[in-house]
Amino acid sequence: MTAIALQDRLFIGGEFVDAVGGGTVEVRNPHDGSLLAEVAEGQAADVDRAVEAAQRAFPAWAATAAAERGRVLFQLADAIEAHADELARLESTDTGHPLKDTTLLDVPRTAAAYRYFGGIADKFEGSVVPVDAGFLNYVRHEPIGVVGAIVPWNFPLLFTSWKLGPALAAGNTVVMKPSELVPLSTLRLCELMVEVGLPPGVVNVVPGYGHDAGARLAAHPGVGKVSFTGSTRTGRSVVEASAGNLKRLQLELGGKGANVVYADADLEAAVNGAAFGIFHNQGQACIAGSRLLLHEAVADEFLDRFLALAGTIRVGDPLAPGTEMGPLTSPEHRDRVLSFVKVAEDEGGEILLGGTAPADPALAAGCYVLPTVVRAEPSARVCQEEVFGPFVTVSTFADDDEALALANGTDYGLGGSLWTRDLARAHRAAAAFRTGMVWVNCTKRVGPGSPFGGVGQSGYGREMGFEAMRGYTEPKSVWVNVDAAIPAWYPRS
Ligand code: NAD
Repeated sequence: MTAIALQDRLFIGGEFVDAVGGGTVEVRNPHDGSLLAEVAEGQAADVDRAVEAAQRAFPAWAATAAAERGRVLFQLADAIEAHADELARLESTDTGHPLKDTTLLDVPRTAAAYRYFGGIADKFEGSVVPVDAGFLNYVRHEPIGVVGAIVPWNFPLLFTSWKLGPALAAGNTVVMKPSELVPLSTLRLCELMVEVGLPPGVVNVVPGYGHDAGARLAAHPGVGKVSFTGSTRTGRSVVEASAGNLKRLQLELGGKGANVVYADADLEAAVNGAAFGIFHNQGQACIAGSRLLLHEAVADEFLDRFLALAGTIRVGDPLAPGTEMGPLTSPEHRDRVLSFVKVAEDEGGEILLGGTAPADPALAAGCYVLPTVVRAEPSARVCQEEVFGPFVTVSTFADDDEALALANGTDYGLGGSLWTRDLARAHRAAAAFRTGMVWVNCTKRVGPGSPFGGVGQSGYGREMGFEAMRGYTEPKSVWVNVDAAIPAWYPRS
């Protein structure tokens, strides 16, 4: 597919090594099912080796000046930009993201994350706390130690940076398990880490299956924190596995984002935003706007325009320049997404658009699903469960109270969007949404300085910004008696 040789081995202690068990995992192109690579299958024993390497590297990395840690992250950002085209193609080939998206979003945002955390490394200050006279109390932010990072398949390159950036800036070392489906960009990144001089063992990457390598990482007694992005169900098993040594956890789990269009919305913007919210990356985004909630006064007009737009989205080869939606990332996931069509119909839902694979024979071997729009009752399974595909439900509301009740009417709480010209309504709703993120007259915006994460079944803890730095450090409170006259114990009579 590209001129570069794909890296297919584990990265442990600064070297590319075979898996102890000698097994491999096939990595396939979701566009046509062709074999891209057979990647070494990391198992529990490999995770153990990687944790040992990370433990050995930790003291020196933690003692490295914060500015120097930052400098390495800057260099990594530079290297990513220098290889931007290659990384974009690799990510598109492995995941199915349209090349336009990986070029304009995934790769630049990845570089931006490393650069942001490179910059924050020596600006994340401790504090001096005003306490009783005669005492100095200060707080140091110390790295936790070895961090386990478990990443899903929907944005592998980007999510890797969201975890590695703050973890490394704060002085931790890392063992990362990418998704077994899409490990290629993460392994390529390891080669760039070697090039920029990241010390051996500071980052270790063990691709492998979740039930084996992932579960070992979540349970490993030498790991101080696990940062997990993935499904709510797996998140629960990570919580259970982490109990042995009371790991710190940060969980970015599923979502069922509401996209609320009020009667006074700019419909042109709302239609375009709603389409981006659900069809970007084929809807495989935890922050996808997968529930359209429309005020009944504008529902018909909105839907006409939305369906017209969705029906003309160019679905096809992710590497073709005009493609707006590529394949889903795996055949199993495509089948799962399509299975929700029957789930919708069984509960009285009406398929307004799509619901099938495209008819184009050129796409028959790929994991394609057409943009799908379903009218459904808010209580229906398709309005409650995460489909994680180009599949959006439509329901209507009569007033602001009902809109809020519907928006907050799932167990998830990651992100939500709202479209209105009324400033007071916007702020009222933003405050009342039970989510970690709200977008007003926009959708799915993210930035490395802005906290990212959810509430409820969408998890806890935050990525990005100073919140992330707090999550990758332990505060240590140091008390110093600076007045010799103060007795160490109360005076005895
Ligand atoms: P998943 O939970 O199946 O897998 C996520 C990762 O966990 C993979 O690397 C997998 O191998 C690993 N894993 C699986 N079983 C494990 C176990 N028992 N112990 C440890 N690790 C294990 O999720 P997925 O299908 O890869 O990704 C899709 C899900 O991720 C969706 O639910 C989506 O909403 C969620 N997601 C959330 C966010 C967020 O920031 N909130 C972002 C992206 C994706």
